Amino acid sequence: MNNDIEKVLYTQDQVDHRLDEMATTLTNKYQDEFPILVSVMTGAMVFTTDIMRRLNFKLNVDYVDVSSYEDGSESTGKVKLVQDLTHDITGRPVIIMEDIIDTGHTLKYLADLLANRGAKSIEICSFLDKPDRREADVEADYVGFKVPNEFIVGYGLDYNGLYRNLPFVGVLKRAVYEN
Ligand code: 5GP
Ligand code: MG
Ligand code: MG
Repeated sequence: MNNDIEKVLYTQDQVDHRLDEMATTLTNKYQDEFPILVSVMTGAMVFTTDIMRRLNFKLNVDYVDVSSYEDGSESTGKVKLVQDLTHDITGRPVIIMEDIIDTGHTLKYLADLLANRGAKSIEICSFLDKPDRREADVEADYVGFKVPNEFIVGYGLDYNGLYRNLPFVGVLKRAVYEN
């Protein structure tokens, strides 16, 4: 599996350190807010579970599943809701937890959807950000790391369902998806 990785962008130690910093920022901001974390499956699963154990305030966790990528490395631009929330978010502060913002279509769709349900506030917390690729008008309020315009795997991010369990953030070798 590690043979398919071109290079490591962020090691497990670097990720741990950055999550500590992000958790401190969130803990200061949400101390008395009782927000709900909305984790976007499946990519944000690892990020969500790792950071939530560092958050020192009252919160709920829920998740949604959306599909925007067909099986491959190219975005189709189309987004649909595959699995909805179980919580009512009316009047609640919402923090959307995402693995990566690429074109931004997924988060634009989700943020609009949740705003229409009467969330008190919506912030976006994305583990990674690929700013070069943005098409939709949406930005994250909190970003772990900016990454170059390459196909990233590990720490929850997959290629065709694989590599999510890598404990670091890496670039997938082109040969893996270009044949
Ligand atoms: P967007 O709608 O912003 O273009 O893309 C959102 C989703 O596409 C992300 O949540 C992620 O699941 C997937 N995606 C975008 N870029 C990458 C990447 O470099 N690697 C992986 N594994 N998934 C990506
Ligand atoms: Mg995702
Ligand atoms: Mg994916």
